[in-house]
Amino acid sequence: MLWAARLAAQSAPTADHHQHLIGPAIIGLLATDSGGPESITAPGLVALLDSAGIERALVLSVAYMYGSPSRTVKDEYAKVRAQNDWTAAQAALYPERLRAACGFNPLKEYALDELARCGLDPGLRHAIKLHFGNADVQLDNPAHLARVREVFRAANARRMAIVVHMRASISRKRPYGAAQARIFLEQLLPLVPDIPVQVAHLAGTGPGYDDPPSDSAMAVLAEAVHRGDPRTRRLWFDVTTVADPGISPANAARLVKRIRQVGVERILYGSDAAIGENLRPRESWAAFRRLPLTDSELDRIARNVGPHLRESASTAVPTSVGQDTSDRAAIQELARRFSAAYVRGDAGAMTDLYTRDAVLFPERSAAITGRDAIRRYWTLPPGRRVTRHVLRPEGITIDGRHAYDHGTFEIAGERDGVAWGPSQGKYVVVWRREGDTWRMHLDMWNSGPEKAGP
Ligand SMILES: [Zn+2]
Repeated sequence: MLWAARLAAQSAPTADHHQHLIGPAIIGLLATDSGGPESITAPGLVALLDSAGIERALVLSVAYMYGSPSRTVKDEYAKVRAQNDWTAAQAALYPERLRAACGFNPLKEYALDELARCGLDPGLRHAIKLHFGNADVQLDNPAHLARVREVFRAANARRMAIVVHMRASISRKRPYGAAQARIFLEQLLPLVPDIPVQVAHLAGTGPGYDDPPSDSAMAVLAEAVHRGDPRTRRLWFDVTTVADPGISPANAARLVKRIRQVGVERILYGSDAAIGENLRPRESWAAFRRLPLTDSELDRIARNVGPHLRESASTAVPTSVGQDTSDRAAIQELARRFSAAYVRGDAGAMTDLYTRDAVLFPERSAAITGRDAIRRYWTLPPGRRVTRHVLRPEGITIDGRHAYDHGTFEIAGERDGVAWGPSQGKYVVVWRREGDTWRMHLDMWNSGPEKAGP
């Protein structure tokens, strides 16, 4: 049992909720900020995610950088639009893995126009990214607060999630702490009851967790969550770059305390842009895992995916034909997730895709019933690994609460370092609709003409 728990804790996060792409247009801008132009396009980011075993990422457009008050940019709004569009086009190269969020400075006169424009764009409509530090938003400034309130209201009306870097500018020494967090809680969150809000870097900036004002702000939010304040119902926190490898034991303890106060179920993993000194997704997760959290807490954080990054979030297709199409797409996406989890050795994520009373019918085996038994079944013994798993549905029929799915699969793996496969087989899955998702209820497979399976 011990090794199974350790294996689960080592499984990579399902999603990176805080990534950026750096395109040719923005490099010139960054050169003055971080000293080295490095471009990151979608294929580069996907390669980084692959090397970390991470399935998907929320890509926060850095278009807001054009609106920083420390810059004067000619044709600023045109550049903001172009950067958001470029980010969306890049993410669209990997529709199952990358989702773009629209970025802009909320204090600019074009802010609501850009929000509305992004809200109509299928590639940008899921979320907006606001960076209070970069935009020099001061929540204690009534004019700023009024502008940001308009942006929050508009995002809620269009059901666009908000990712917010709350920390006020450090370089300008802006006031920040409990007072600003209370304004956020009392004057902004009540305007967004219908959308998820992701507070970046646990209300700080990273790297590390050594900024006392950020911890004071985080304390206010964490206490509100802890006492069940209804305004925090849809509040999430990303832990992007807060656990740097050199974190002191005292700061690590403070950080873990905040994570437990809000509950691991609201913590989203993120690793930030792969530029300069920032840790790459793989190293960043390794640093996070060194925090004094339990294996099951780490496992839970690794598996959390914010609603704004789930495929069905804010996908509302009104007609029944359209509904069938989106249900089929959802089931295919879940099947891809199942395969990705199998290759990661993540039996927990595989098990989550089954109903509580699901039944497996493996070849030459008794039927296996219930999630505990299913989890044990999919937990690979030491020395075994699946290196490739592909499901190829040949027909998915949606019939009310159930869907009938059949097709073929291909699998390859390693046993004690020796590769086997690929071999083929065929399968039948009965899916059951549960809330706004689908889960496998009956799962049966067997080998094809050649012997399949590990
Ligand atoms: Zn960032």
